Amino acid sequence: MPLNAQELKQLAEAAEQSPLPVCGNWVHRAAAWESFTEDRWPAGLMERVDTLRADEFAEPGFEEFHPGGTRYDSADAPISVPHFPFNRSELFRCAACARLVLRYTEFGGYYVDHRARRVEAALVSI
Ligand SMILES: [Zn+2]
Repeated sequence: MPLNAQELKQLAEAAEQSPLPVCGNWVHRAAAWESFTEDRWPAGLMERVDTLRADEFAEPGFEEFHPGGTRYDSADAPISVPHFPFNRSELFRCAACARLVLRYTEFGGYYVDHRARRVEAALVSI
């Protein structure tokens, strides 16, 4: 079952209350979407929680959500589950520090580009 916004926010709030200090992995510093190559993904630490993709068969839309004038790559851009690119993202939890990270893959004409962004509960739009 895909996660809805309420569930994502609750998971993020719980993660932020973890007594563990945030570990040194780069994904936790990705306040805005950050491009990475697969070899930089800390696969040994990242436990997949669930998808935000509502329908695995239908192509999610490309409309973004920026009511406060943010942009795609703003660190304070809202995390809106029905909007691009959250609507095609997977949620991961770090095994070392329990913090949450979103990831998706951008498909260009001749390339694939992975992007990751940490989850801040306060930015999850309900
Ligand atoms: Zn960590």
